[in-house]
Amino acid sequence: GLKKKEVKVLVVGLNNSGKSTIINHLKSDDEKSTEIVPTIGLSVEKFKNQKVYFTALDMSGQGRYRDLWEHYYKECEGIIFVIDSSDRLRLAVAKEELDMLIQHPDVAGRFVPLLFFANKMDLRDALSSVKVAAALGLEKLQDKPWHICSSNAVTGEGLQEGVHWFTQQVC
Ligand code: GDP
Repeated sequence: GLKKKEVKVLVVGLNNSGKSTIINHLKSDDEKSTEIVPTIGLSVEKFKNQKVYFTALDMSGQGRYRDLWEHYYKECEGIIFVIDSSDRLRLAVAKEELDMLIQHPDVAGRFVPLLFFANKMDLRDALSSVKVAAALGLEKLQDKPWHICSSNAVTGEGLQEGVHWFTQQVC
């Protein structure tokens, strides 16, 4: 069929999961920032890579900024959800955020492909992507196409595989 002209993608996850580091890989060379500042509260980063518009949101901060993130839900055509697979304590928090996201009226019942990065695969405590998928309850996610990849955002390992799947879904 006809290829869409532009696609809006939301990059979300808890703070410290690796969103900024992943985004930096997705940016074209002239956009790359050399210093990445850890994100706190509401941090919105926007950039464009060819025909894909990325908006990155930090889901941490006790929901204080939730009303502001939700503004971006309606217009997104794909979601990249980043998880720190070594942060076992906050995996349950990530699951809560994911559940709220996919149950949100602006996301539920809509064709929104979901790409999960089980990031920080290089760390000793990291869970496998299979275990992260189980902890997030992804087997219950049946109304949306989804895919999970282990990644190391520092070296870029695993990112290409995920982005390849994702662009096939949304473009
Ligand atoms: P954000 O808050 O989600 O944007 O997370 P950042 O991209 O700022 O990353 C938080 C910290 O984790 C930084 O110190 C990164 O260098 C580090 N980090 C990100 N991805 C990885 C990874 O795959 N492996 C390791 N070992 N560290 C990572």
